[in-house]
Amino acid sequence: MHSNPRIAIIGAGPGGLTLARILYLHGIAATVYEQEVHPLSRPQGGSLDLHEDSGLLALERAELSDAFQAIARYDDQGTRLLARNGQVLFDDQNASGGNRPEVDRTALRSLLLDSLPPSMVRWNCALLGLEDAGEGCWNLSFGHGNEGPFDWVVGADGTWSRVRPFVSTYEPQYSGLCFVEFGINDIDRSHPELALLVGRGMLNVEGDGKALIVQRNGNSHVRGYAIFRVPMGWVEKRFDFTSVSAVREGLVQEFAGYSEEILNLFRASSDEFAVRPIFALPVGHSWVRRPGLTLIGDAAHVMSPFGGDGVNNAMLDAAELAHLLIERRQCNNAVAEYERRMFERLVPSAKSAAEGAATFLSHDGQALTLAMYLSHQGTRP
Ligand SMILES: Cc1cc2nc3c(=O)[nH]c(=O)nc-3n(C[C@H](O)[C@H](O)[C@H](O)COP(=O)(O)OP(=O)(O)OC[C@H]3O[C@@H](n4cnc5c(N)ncnc54)[C@H](O)[C@@H]3O)c2cc1C
Repeated sequence: MHSNPRIAIIGAGPGGLTLARILYLHGIAATVYEQEVHPLSRPQGGSLDLHEDSGLLALERAELSDAFQAIARYDDQGTRLLARNGQVLFDDQNASGGNRPEVDRTALRSLLLDSLPPSMVRWNCALLGLEDAGEGCWNLSFGHGNEGPFDWVVGADGTWSRVRPFVSTYEPQYSGLCFVEFGINDIDRSHPELALLVGRGMLNVEGDGKALIVQRNGNSHVRGYAIFRVPMGWVEKRFDFTSVSAVREGLVQEFAGYSEEILNLFRASSDEFAVRPIFALPVGHSWVRRPGLTLIGDAAHVMSPFGGDGVNNAMLDAAELAHLLIERRQCNNAVAEYERRMFERLVPSAKSAAEGAATFLSHDGQALTLAMYLSHQGTRP
């Protein structure tokens, strides 16, 4: 084992960048390889809430807690639950004192990127495969050629990880839930009545075997998900994604019976829609350790977003792995301990995400959601 191990991190998502940042702070060199062409080549997705004992803890270890305050949105922790006829079942708009601040994904990624020397992240580098270079080392293959050998390759490359097949035979399975993502720009000025409907945080409406989750992001943007329990491929057949107006109209039709005010959210949507089928690895996913390789974040344990833990888990994985590498200075030993702890730590979170996905859109789904909100309200500090 080298005293200065050559470490490659695949993926510049929240997990990979948090790991790179903490290693960098402690003088451990690593290179992050990211398939996207540059940091702003695609919108990074919706708002995330960071939790004290995971995402926020990882930022503390990355010495970025102060900088995070500039992008944290404490005011947007509210929750509303409506019946499909528009009746308000739960409304908590005074949540700015909560301890789960929201942050836009793009802002979080910029915070992490700005804390690294630019040369540490290699853009436009999609990993195509790995090759055993002997003695526990690995060569990486990219479109531009091969790089390596590396002593450690950390797969932080999300749901469809190219590193995972080298340690595990499991593949993420479709949960049966598919989201159609839509957005409303500049909502406070363009649609103030809808801004009030959504409130300062998340709006949830469920009924008739489908649901709508709409969330306030930064810059007066709102992102929503129309959620269906359908076979894989149904959404692509049902909606004509070549026509924005046809998708809007299709969503209005599918949610017939919901109040007009709620349907106006679809009518106000901007031009961009995305289809997001929800996949998950089995609860308790683990693997037999393979020298020179490990996984963090969604690559290791992608789960449905219903637990709200995905990004928090990814960042905590990164912080724990970095901590062990720094403390032990002996990679084999550090990675073995990281994997042992991570496999155990992830079980409750994966279980609750799986239960969330299973009960969502069930006959008593909305009653369960209401019960959960009421119990959380009771425990808020
Ligand atoms: C609809 C939806 C809503 C969600 N909402 C929430 C939420 O509210 N709260 C929450 O905590 N979590 C949420 N999640 C989950 C959250 O997005 C993930 O858990 C989190 O992004 C995982 O971080 P990561 O760094 O492990 O992976 P990712 O964020 O997926 O990052 C992986 C990175 O690797 C790159 N990459 C992939 N393949 C390659 C390759 N071959 N070569 C090089 N680079 C590659 C990707 O481009 C990407 O930049 C949601 C997920 C979905 C689908």
